[in-house]
This record gives sequence, structure tokens and C-alpha cells, in this order.
Amino acid sequence: MSAAPVTITRHGGVAVVEIAAPPVNALSRAVRTGLLAAIEALGADPDVAAIVLSGGPGRFIAGADIREMSLPPDAPVLPDVVAAIDALDKPVIAAIDGAALGGGLEIALACDARIGSAKALLGLTETRLGIIPGAGGTQRLPRLVGVAAAIGLICAGRVLKAREALDLGVLDAIVAGDPIAAALERAAGQVKRRVSALSVPDSEDGAEDAAAESALKGAKGVPAIAEAIRVIRAARADSFAEGLARERAAFLALRESPEAAALRHLFFAEREAAKVPGLEGAAARPLATIGVIGAGTMGAGIAVALLDAGLHVILVERDAAAAEAGGARVRGLYDRPVKSGRLGSEEAEARLARLAPTDDWDRLATADLVIEAAFEDMAVKVDIFRRLDAVARPGAVLASNTSYLDLDAIAATTGRPQDVVGLHFFAPANLMRLLEVVRGAATAPDVLATALALAKRIGKQPVVAGNCDGFIGNRIYAVYRRHAEYLVEDGATPEAVDAALEAYGFAMGIFAVSDMSGLDIAFAMRQRRAATRDPAERYVAIPDRLCAAGRLGRKTGAGWYAYDAAGKKSVDPTTGDIIAAARAEKAIAPRAVSAPEIQRRLVCVMANEGAKELEEGIALRASDIDLAFVNGYGFPRLKGGPMFAADQMGLAAVLDEIEAAHAAGGAGSEPAPLLRDLARTGGSFSSWRRA
Ligand code: NAD
Repeated sequence: MSAAPVTITRHGGVAVVEIAAPPVNALSRAVRTGLLAAIEALGADPDVAAIVLSGGPGRFIAGADIREMSLPPDAPVLPDVVAAIDALDKPVIAAIDGAALGGGLEIALACDARIGSAKALLGLTETRLGIIPGAGGTQRLPRLVGVAAAIGLICAGRVLKAREALDLGVLDAIVAGDPIAAALERAAGQVKRRVSALSVPDSEDGAEDAAAESALKGAKGVPAIAEAIRVIRAARADSFAEGLARERAAFLALRESPEAAALRHLFFAEREAAKVPGLEGAAARPLATIGVIGAGTMGAGIAVALLDAGLHVILVERDAAAAEAGGARVRGLYDRPVKSGRLGSEEAEARLARLAPTDDWDRLATADLVIEAAFEDMAVKVDIFRRLDAVARPGAVLASNTSYLDLDAIAATTGRPQDVVGLHFFAPANLMRLLEVVRGAATAPDVLATALALAKRIGKQPVVAGNCDGFIGNRIYAVYRRHAEYLVEDGATPEAVDAALEAYGFAMGIFAVSDMSGLDIAFAMRQRRAATRDPAERYVAIPDRLCAAGRLGRKTGAGWYAYDAAGKKSVDPTTGDIIAAARAEKAIAPRAVSAPEIQRRLVCVMANEGAKELEEGIALRASDIDLAFVNGYGFPRLKGGPMFAADQMGLAAVLDEIEAAHAAGGAGSEPAPLLRDLARTGGSFSSWRRA
């Protein structure tokens, strides 16, 4: 950071206060101190008639310094700065040439006018981090746009582009070119117009209730949403000062909440994930045309994700009929967004025009990167990668979407293992955010860099994984599922396990998920592993028996649950009988298993397996594992991911739980040495780094 993050320049009687705290002018303590000092000095200076506040070219203030949010508030706090601006008897104009977000917009709202360039972006985005605006945003915004609109904007954390901000009255003008120049011109004639002194305009009848109801529906349990609604609505009833006090109290309480801590953790986790040791200086290879092999569930979804990002896609199937069906499957995925109006039909057609379904492998010669998404069978993959090696141009990246197979073995079938990487998408691939990028033993740094660049381009959250059975996510998931089955064999019902997981915040319980994916997938995996399974690992035969009874999940009308013609699930006594028989064979007397035990056990076994991945270098850092679970497996964001949740429990308590899990599960459930070490030394997964 430069020496002085806030500078003042004089233009006759107008002073320009400029913030320069790269990269985004976050409101660190240094910036707040500099701003407050500038405002106080200029307020007392008789030669200054008006003030222009700017963040420099291309910027304004992108918000709070999120690192400071985990520390106690440190004076001067943002409300001090905002109050000082509001109290000035000279007009202040905000000149906004970029992001005015969170606390940045709160500062702009304390000014007497806001002038933006076309690049201006304005939003109170705090609820995304589990808090509410804490420096007047919930009181000033409704005075400009009304309570109903303020609820909509603040609860969704929406960012307005310049035009929309102008229409709503958040911006007073949009100017071509430099907003500082325009603000200087305007400064002489600017009158004081404190937003805090305006009255809150009336909303249309019922609009506030409707906005509140819709915000709560999308809240997914985020406590900040209900608080934001309460505080914004109070803007009408309370005086401005009372509203501010109410807002500040709610802000401070939420800031300390475990939910906000979890969301901050994920915020940093996302920024950290693309930093991969050994990649420094590796330039991503250019990408324009992507090949996709296999147009099934995954291939079609992947094609849509690529088309949506403007890429050209060559979609290869086994024969002409399968290629045609594949093209139709991709087209079908555009039906829903077009019908709902989220996507114009012309735009959908433009995207589909970049798709070329074919059974002609030679067309792959023009691809910059090829993603194989055919059957999960090593013989199929080997055959495909041999053919690919023969047809792909030199320098093309060859990727596999395999879920469990050995990427190095796949790479070894080509003459260019350095060009091979895993791109493990999650179903539905056009919608799910997670992309596990699997780094093989030979994967070249620039190939990994290309995979990360592709993830960014198509809006996915990449997590880099090493090569092992199941990579980061499915490896942990397998342990999680095994322990859920142990709990059932010991006495819990599948529906009680699912209910406990859903109460914890999972989108869906594990048995309901199994029914949705199909029980045959895990069955095939167990068969594949049977030869190498440690006999000391406890084995639950219940899912095998469900499969043997033809209960493969939703697709057969029954699995763990029964499903009616409309797809509605219900508890099925047949499953209960199969479970009871399995217990009887092992002479297990069913015991009561409480919801807290289910939650604790399953989160701890995930974290324990995650710790093993950290030791082995399969995952680079604990936060990557958290990102994988939150973005790919329905783990509740408000809990921050399994590793973060384990840290919050305290690793000594987690170790105790894992000793119990080990006793229940036998081989494969041993405590990770890393967990033992951290529990002994009082460490945490979040702060652990490879030596
Ligand atoms: P799928 O059976 O729906 O589709 C596979 C497609 O590949 C079929 O259309 C088939 O005709 C085609 N195909 C097979 N061999 C081919 C060949 N030699 N040349 C061209 N096309 C060929 O399977 P899926 O669920 O889409 O899975 C595909 C891959 O993605 C597998 O490796 C799977 O493990 C992985 N995966 C699946 C999921 C999931 O949830 N379904 C999630 C992540 C990864």
C-alpha cells in the first residue's frame, strides 16, 4: 500500500479527497483514519467551499477490509467517518468510477450527491457475508429508494449498474468520461442535501410485505436477512438517530455470529483456491474450441457450461444417432431457462449455433482442449485416450471427467501424459459450481493453469486435487456414507439420519441423495473395491440388499425410500425389514441415536478423512476441502464446510468423536495423525500449512 492512502488536492475552493489503497480501496483502518482526518481538516478550512470524494480512476471503495472483520472494531470505525461527512456544512460529492460496495456505498450515501461514470457499480452487499450494513446503509438507502426496494436490494446483496442506480435515484447523474471533472464542475452550485434528513417515501400497498416475504424465502436460514428486514422497516418508524443505533447493534451482533465467521471463511477460501504452488509463471494455453466426448448426463451439462461462456463445442458420440440424441439433449437443457424468461430464445439459439454434435473423431483435431465424459470404465477410457492421442493436435489439453478412476493410468495410455488433467464436474454440470481439477503426477504446470483459467471462464469454483480414489470430494463422501450406514445398522432410521442432516443445514439428507443418484453407482464402486477391502473394515450389506431387491432409488420407484408416481417420497416398511434382518444377522441390538450424535459423527468423519488428504497432499489446504463440500455436496454454507466446522468444535473434541467412530467402523476409520497432532497442540485445520 502507498504511504498515504488518502490525499487532498485543491482546485480553487473545491478540495478533491482521493483514496488510493490498491487493489480495491478497501476500508482498512489506515483508510478510515486518513479519510476522517481529511474530512475534519477540510471542514475546518475556511478556504474550502465544497469537497469531491473519489477513489481514483476505475474505482471508488469496494467495501470493508474483510480481514479486519474477525478482529474487534478498531477506531475510527466506519460510522465515525460517515457521521463526519454527514455533519459537514459544506457539500460533498461522491465521484464514482468503479465499485462502491458495502461500506463504500455507505460513504457515498452520506454525501450530498453521487455522480457516476458508466463503470459505476453500487450495492450494499453485506448480507452475502452474513451481516447487515453497519454505517447507515439500512437507514439512508430506504430514504432514497423506499423501504420495499431497499429490502430487495440489501437482502439480495444486489449490485446495481450505473443505469439502474440512476433510475432508482441512488446515483444523481451518469457522466461520460471522468466523474471527478464533472463533480468539480458541479461543486460550486451543489447545495447541501443530506440523505439522513430526507423522509422515507411511501411504498405501494403491500409492497413492503411482499419484498420481506420474498427476501425471507431466499434467505436459506441466513440470520442477517431477517435482521436486515427488521432494521430497514424501522427506518420509517424511528428517527434517523434511533434507526442508526438499532442498525449498529444488529450489525455488531451479527459480525460476531458463527454464520458470519463461516461466510468470511468461505470468502477467503474462494480467493485462495486458485493459488497453487509450482504454478508461478505458467501461462494458460489459449482456449476457443473445446471437444466433449460422450453426450450423456455429464457431457450434455458440460457442453452447456462451455457454450454459455462463449466457447465452441465439438460433441462426439459413438455413432450418428447418439450424436443426434446428444445434440437434442443439449438443446433440451436450454428449454427451462428460455421458458422461464431467464434466457432469450435468440441468445439460446446463438449458443446452440456454436455446438457441433458428431461421430467424426477427426473433427477433434481443431480442439484446444478435450473433455472425456464417457462411461466410468477403465477399458472405455483407455480406448478413448488412445484415439484422442492420435487425433488431437500437439499442445491440446486432454481432460477426463472420471469420478474415481486413476488419472495417471489414463494419462499413461497417451504419448503426452503432461497434457492430461482431470476436470471433475458435478451433476448437473451446467449448474453446479464445483470443478475439481485433478493434477496427475505428470500434469504440466501450464496445463493446470489452463484448467484453472477454463474454470474461471465458465464461472466454476475450482479446487485442485491430487490423484487418488475419489479425489478430494468423493473420497470423503464415501467415508461419510459408510458412517451414515453404520449409524443405521446401529439403530438410527435412514429418515432420522436424513432429518438430522437437513436440520444441520444440508440441502438433502444422504439417503435421499443416494436414491436420487441411484444405488447402483455405489454398488459398482463397492464391487470394484471388494478385492482390496481390508477385512477389518466394517461392512454394511443393507445397500447391497436394496439393490438385490431391485431398489435402485428414484429411477426404480424405490430405494432407501419409496416413491409414488409423482416422485413424492415416503418411508418404506420393506427397507425397515431389510435393515432389521441385517441387524439380526450381526446380533446388533438397535440403540437410540440422537440427532446431535448423527450430526457430530458425520461431520467429524468427513473432517478426519479430509485431514488424511491434507497429510497425503491430495488437498492443498483445509479451505479447499470446505469449498468442495459447500459447492459440490450440499454442505451448509453457514457452517463453513467440514474442516471449518471441525475447527469450531475444537479438534480435541473431534478426536474424541473419531475414537468412537473408529470403534464403530474398524479399519479405515482411524484418527488421522494430523488430527492427533493438532488436537494435542491446540492447532486448527484452517491455520495448518504444509511445512
Ligand atoms: P452417461 O452414461 O449418462 O453418459 C455417457 C455417454 O458417453 C453416453 O452417451 C455414451 O453413449 C457415451 N460414450 C460412451 N463411450 C463412448 C465412446 N467411446 N465415444 C463416444 N461416446 C461414448 O454417463 P455420465 O453420468 O454422463 O458419466 C460420464 C462420466 O462422468 C463418467 O466418467 C462418470 O464417472 C463421470 N461423472 C458422472 C457424474 C454423475 O453424477 N453422473 C458426476 C461426475 C462425474
